[in-house]
Amino acid sequence: MRAILEVRNLAKAFGAFQVLEDVAFQVQKGEIVGLLGPNGSGKSTLLNIISGFIAPDKGTVMLDGRDVTSVPTFRIVNEGLARTFQLPIMPQKMSVLEVAMAADTTMHGVLPTLFRGAGFCKAERDTRERAMQLLDELLLTRVMHLPASAISGGQKKLLGIVCALMARPRLLMLDEPTAGVHPNLRQDIVRALHRLNDQGMTLVIVEHDMHFIREACNRCIVLDQGHIVASCKPEELASNERVVQAYLGASVEE
Ligand code: ADP
Ligand code: MG
Repeated sequence: MRAILEVRNLAKAFGAFQVLEDVAFQVQKGEIVGLLGPNGSGKSTLLNIISGFIAPDKGTVMLDGRDVTSVPTFRIVNEGLARTFQLPIMPQKMSVLEVAMAADTTMHGVLPTLFRGAGFCKAERDTRERAMQLLDELLLTRVMHLPASAISGGQKKLLGIVCALMARPRLLMLDEPTAGVHPNLRQDIVRALHRLNDQGMTLVIVEHDMHFIREACNRCIVLDQGHIVASCKPEELASNERVVQAYLGASVEE
């Protein structure tokens, strides 16, 4: 079986601070992998490198056997990798539905004209239908005509997932999908992610919350101070000494 994602020997420093060192792991097609670690352990930096937001100092990122190290984010999306952000920022003047539609990369360049009322074409209709279907799957139908900036933090996270899915990725990476999200909504997010996985999507979920990872993932990779310290099944986390040490030794949690 070929890995959909392979990271080799990644290293990154910000000034004198070594954020990641010798990070290597693989994700196989169809997996739901949790990338776990205390706050400040380097999870978002790792995700930013994999998704082309920042370049590593050393190392390689392979997507489906192709070297995509430092390929910029807007091109990686076309290679089949989409991601969400820890703190989604939504535009002030667009509705939830419009934000979802604008995330369809095939429509870029077409949408601004259409939003000015220039007409209605099949491409827009398809994009609208697809956006509405994803908004429904991610429980956002009720708020689709509200300004995207006015919905709750949890709903913004769900809208972030919708936007990532509009690009039809094969690999979806989520940065802390449940941080700041109401507990009732967490179960819905787990269910939505499992549904996506059933449809063939490979998922990497970056989280510091061990409970969510246990419910959502098939396998976990644990990062501590920029190093991978464990790779295990979610049910083995609590008995893994190195994982417990990473969490007990960690500074204040979010
Ligand atoms: P996590 O997502 O696991 O909480 P991050 O990857 O966001 O961790 O950050 C890891 C460490 O790197 C933190 O100590 C953070 O302050 C530092 N860091 C992240 N980005 C930058 C940056 N652009 N410049 C300097 N330090 C950074
Ligand atoms: Mg982070």
